[in-house]
Amino acid sequence: MWAVASHVLKNKLTRKKRYPLVLMLEPLFRCNLACAGCGKIQYPGHILKQELTPEQCFNATDQCGAPIVSIPGGEPLMYSKIQEVVEGLVARKKYIYLCTNAVLLKEKIDLFKPTKYLTFSIHMDGLEEEHDFAVCREGVYKDALEAIKLALSRGFRVTTNTTLFEGARPARVREFFDEMTALGVEGMMVSPGYSYSKAPDQESFLHRERTRGLFRRILAAPRKGWRFNQSPLFLEFLMGIEGRDYHCTPWGNPTYNLFGWQKPCYLLQEGYTETFDELMETTDWDQYGHDKNEKCRDCMVHSGYEATAVDQTFGSLRGFLATVRATLLGYRWSGDDDVGSSDGAADRNEAVEPPAVDRTEAASCGAANTGTKA
Ligand code: SF4
Repeated sequence: MWAVASHVLKNKLTRKKRYPLVLMLEPLFRCNLACAGCGKIQYPGHILKQELTPEQCFNATDQCGAPIVSIPGGEPLMYSKIQEVVEGLVARKKYIYLCTNAVLLKEKIDLFKPTKYLTFSIHMDGLEEEHDFAVCREGVYKDALEAIKLALSRGFRVTTNTTLFEGARPARVREFFDEMTALGVEGMMVSPGYSYSKAPDQESFLHRERTRGLFRRILAAPRKGWRFNQSPLFLEFLMGIEGRDYHCTPWGNPTYNLFGWQKPCYLLQEGYTETFDELMETTDWDQYGHDKNEKCRDCMVHSGYEATAVDQTFGSLRGFLATVRATLLGYRWSGDDDVGSSDGAADRNEAVEPPAVDRTEAASCGAANTGTKA
């Protein structure tokens, strides 16, 4: 994307050491789902009822200066000022990823107009069985599929975003990518889950080696037509490819929410600042990264490492050529091990049954928490 390339090059030319690429703007923590792996909806009711004002959203955007604004939450379609905020960001020529579970998209779609600046990034954690299990409610996958079709038919840009947890089956994930590709989504985003200390299900987070093995099985032979709206070098990092053992860039995706600017990243909460400059100046960035901090040990999430990969892509000829190669020829994996192994659960091409879903495990899901109960 030209906006990202020019932003990186401009900062390189001015020799700026740290700069953001994506503002993570959380206007509320309320949600209409209560997924087991979510660390955002566990706040008490009086917090869940609160929202940022549009002015706070615009101030944060202007302070930060990132070319992309991702609006997660909570569920942004429950935000009472979502139309005003999206219109204001489009007027600022920001590329918006509205990260939604799509449950309300059919009802709210008329609030928005198709534009190159707005993309609906639909939360889809796999095929129907896996997705409904991950979000702890049956029927959500089917609703999301309908919402994707509707948004595409209205001319909106649509991508998917998928978080993979322990137990993900490579063959099923590949089938899921096929299904999203056939639907016509513009791109797919995929990331391992981060073990939020507040998430109700602490058993299902992937550790680094398992993350690499899983992504190798999924991505080593990408099918024609799959499109990811992620840096190919980030995907190679997830696969554990030699030369891609990146360090985290926590300032790449700074987070602004009800408490202010969150230190140091989207995932950890080590304090807040009032202004973006204060965040950049007062955070001890050297404390963070998988080799420096216990809380970062297993983290490989896109909000920490994608910015590193993008910096590699646009920061050197070598990185740029590696990106072109991965885009044209697929990901560079020539290892031996688990790719295509005879392990039924791991074989990327063998049709495997979805994991047996024990509905009694719904106890690990968070209590549906919309902030109206407290
Ligand atoms: S490694 Fe992960 S948890 Fe640690 S600072 Fe980076 S993004 Fe945050």
